[in-house]
Amino acid sequence: MSAYQVATLYIVATPIGNLSDISQRAIDTLQEVDVIAAEDTRHSGKLLQHYLISTPMISVHEHNEQQRSEVLLARLQQGESVALISDAGTPLISDPGYRLVSLVRKHNIRVVPIPGSCALISALSASGLASDRFSFEGFLPSKQGARQQALQALENERRTLIFYESPRRLKSCLTDMVAVFGEDRPACLARELTKLHETIDTKPLVELLAWVSDDSNQQRGECVLLIEGIKEQKESSEIAVNQMLTVLLKELPVKKAAAITASLLDVSKNTAYDMALKLKQ
Ligand code: SAM
Repeated sequence: MSAYQVATLYIVATPIGNLSDISQRAIDTLQEVDVIAAEDTRHSGKLLQHYLISTPMISVHEHNEQQRSEVLLARLQQGESVALISDAGTPLISDPGYRLVSLVRKHNIRVVPIPGSCALISALSASGLASDRFSFEGFLPSKQGARQQALQALENERRTLIFYESPRRLKSCLTDMVAVFGEDRPACLARELTKLHETIDTKPLVELLAWVSDDSNQQRGECVLLIEGIKEQKESSEIAVNQMLTVLLKELPVKKAAAITASLLDVSKNTAYDMALKLKQ
């Protein structure tokens, strides 16, 4: 492997379902490093076996990450190379690894990402929802009260919202989402991505809830939920622009009042100017 380096921590993405979704560079790296740090060595054993990779593994999971990070740091400092993998997808994305990477970087050791599958990016890319700006929220709290609170805090978010959710909580989560975001807010359920029963459907939240409630198959497997961000509230923003112009026009000429309004509110200079002219008349 040409890019292989000693004393380097590689962050290697693995498939989220379809075993073919792994790059040649990832396979080469896993073959050539001294040790693979895996979230669940038994689970990852199957992937390694499939690709005839016999590199030794060490477990690094939520409960031992702190201690194992020190062990791996010592090995890296001795010149060994390490690959970090999680059960599926990109390590650190709702998976362990953050503590290890930050510790290793503090000691000026090279960290190299080997990119690949990631459920949230795959779901977003096929959802049909706006992809220019998005907010990944990971897993919502499992208790209903805390979940509702977390959703309420996102009620006016304009970016596309992306959540990982357990299929067991899908129905109650969608019920809470309808209550907070409204029945008509477009949303996408991306289930079993890259697997045999892959389903990706985008429709108003209330229809998504009805579909999931009526078809228990939709409550199985792994899923990502995406919600369209709130659309610009045209009416209330127009009211705000008018209110600001009315106040400013008492003290300032039309052009100045429009310029200040445009710089403070979500309105173009031309629109603010036209509105200011109308108010002045
Ligand atoms: N690190 C992973 C990644 O890069 O996407 C995510 C790990 S997180 C512990 C697992 C969650 O990711 C699942 O509960 C589900 O929400 C989502 N997920 C993983 N694989 C998926 C798939 N094939 N289809 C849909 N969602 C998936």
